[in-house]
Amino acid sequence: MKELRVENLRVAIGDQEIVRGLSLRVPRGEVHALMGPNGSGKSTLAKVLAGHPDYHVTGGKVLMDGENLLELEPDERARRGLFLAFQYPSEIPGVSIANFLRAALQARVPEGEELEATDYYAKLYEKMELLGMDRSFTSRSVNEGFSGGEKKRAEILQLAMLEPKYAVLDETDSGLDIDALKTVAHGVNSLRGPDLGILLITHYQRLLNYIIPDYVHVMVGGRIVRSGRKELALELEERGYDWAREGAAESAFTR
Ligand code: ADP
Ligand code: MG
Repeated sequence: MKELRVENLRVAIGDQEIVRGLSLRVPRGEVHALMGPNGSGKSTLAKVLAGHPDYHVTGGKVLMDGENLLELEPDERARRGLFLAFQYPSEIPGVSIANFLRAALQARVPEGEELEATDYYAKLYEKMELLGMDRSFTSRSVNEGFSGGEKKRAEILQLAMLEPKYAVLDETDSGLDIDALKTVAHGVNSLRGPDLGILLITHYQRLLNYIIPDYVHVMVGGRIVRSGRKELALELEERGYDWAREGAAESAFTR
């Protein structure tokens, strides 16, 4: 039961249904890629998992290690071990990454307890070492004037420091330059392990040349139309999303 489980989820924005009966299981320890054409509802799913107020769940369930996620406030979801990669304040001039991360971790320790500075810095430098990041990076202001790659570096470092149980990384469809792509890939590959389940949302097959997922799911029109092992991403690149869509229609017909 150590899994992030989405069951027959339905989500509407206004009176338009965007997610239409989506089911997905991401066990801890696995990396699942969620692919699909623009507009298929991938980011909508990520936002619902985060608890975005504009998105209305009209059916289905989301369970994290058996617990109903949809009943929890966004910060409570994070506290229980869910990490979403787009949730950060975009720019915080004057606040260094080191201080920002420290505040984020301090918010997680039980009331009345202090996060020891020496422990914090030891952990920070250990994680940076693991990720191959330069220490000077943490004195930069959060996201201020960052390149795409630097934003990703800050995000991956936050993921490493918060040590969530599940991470949902929604990679924007536009503008992951090669530096950003490699930062995400190196980060995910360094952090993957038995305690972390990762849902990697991406429009681009290219990212999966660097991160070999355990499973690949294809989302079209608000639901998963195909799931498979890593080879599915290659097949998809070759044959396109229309093929995935048609295959789904066929198998639904013959079932
Ligand atoms: P993807 O991430 O797969 O490209 P999205 O989840 O961003 O897809 O979008 C799915 C559909 O939902 C699109 O048709 C999009 O226009 C619509 N949509 C997403 N967010 C909103 C919103 N805040 N208001 C209205 N429509 C939205
Ligand atoms: Mg999207």
